[in-house]
Amino acid sequence: QTTNPLILDASGIVKRFGGFTALDGVDFTVRPGERVGLIGPNGSGKSTFVNCITGALVPEAGRVLFEGADITRLSAHRRARMGLARSFQIPRPFKGMTIRENIEIPLAFAAGETSRRKSAERAGEILHSVGLGPRAADLPASLSQVELRRLELGRALAANPRLLIADEAMAGLSDSEVDEILELLVRLNGEGIAVILIEHIMRAVTGFCERIVVLVAGKKIADGAAAEVMRHPDVERAYLGQ
Ligand code: ADP
Ligand code: MG
Repeated sequence: QTTNPLILDASGIVKRFGGFTALDGVDFTVRPGERVGLIGPNGSGKSTFVNCITGALVPEAGRVLFEGADITRLSAHRRARMGLARSFQIPRPFKGMTIRENIEIPLAFAAGETSRRKSAERAGEILHSVGLGPRAADLPASLSQVELRRLELGRALAANPRLLIADEAMAGLSDSEVDEILELLVRLNGEGIAVILIEHIMRAVTGFCERIVVLVAGKKIADGAAAEVMRHPDVERAYLGQ
């Protein structure tokens, strides 16, 4: 179980919705601490893939290994506890709870029996690391768009992840706000967290990621070093030719 050097090793993932094949045999790997971009036109299956990895969906075929363990059929809850975290494309805070409680709840959920005091301490650290310390007692409704994105990442961090999947965490943000989220991701990655970045903002993907995987219509059409992948003729066609 410990011989697999990959943190994530997904192979042959197939997901259908009725007669429609959203993922058609996708292979995808991540090494510990790696920064991987996942790009593709709208509807190409990126979020569906994330859902198959995190356990929100079960694929019809294929296998997902996380740190060598087969998690293909584990619940999302179990996967989160193992260190697999995602942020949602549309932030999903608990609206009736404070910013601090929004971190503490997933933290308690992930930690299980850990003491309340410890959870409170860790919540403080996470709030600080996503720059929301001063907003701890406020409600999510009072946050700006970029602060909501930071809260969403903070909620993912509460699970103490080894792999963080950021699904369009930057959509709709200004250039400087994009930089702010990127800086946060760089810092988290520096602490050893592998990151899968799903993003349409190309400068963010090419700037942050070592490797890029391209999905088109549920199939992987490219996978390699960022600069090479962006020059791939099929990738240019997928983005420019439609
Ligand atoms: P992306 O994230 O790359 O934009 P998605 O993974 O959200 O793409 O969607 C891939 C395809 O699967 C789209 O055609 C979408 O309409 C379809 N799809 C996604 N989720 C569902 C679902 N729950 N039921 C039916 N079709 C879905
Ligand atoms: Mg999506």
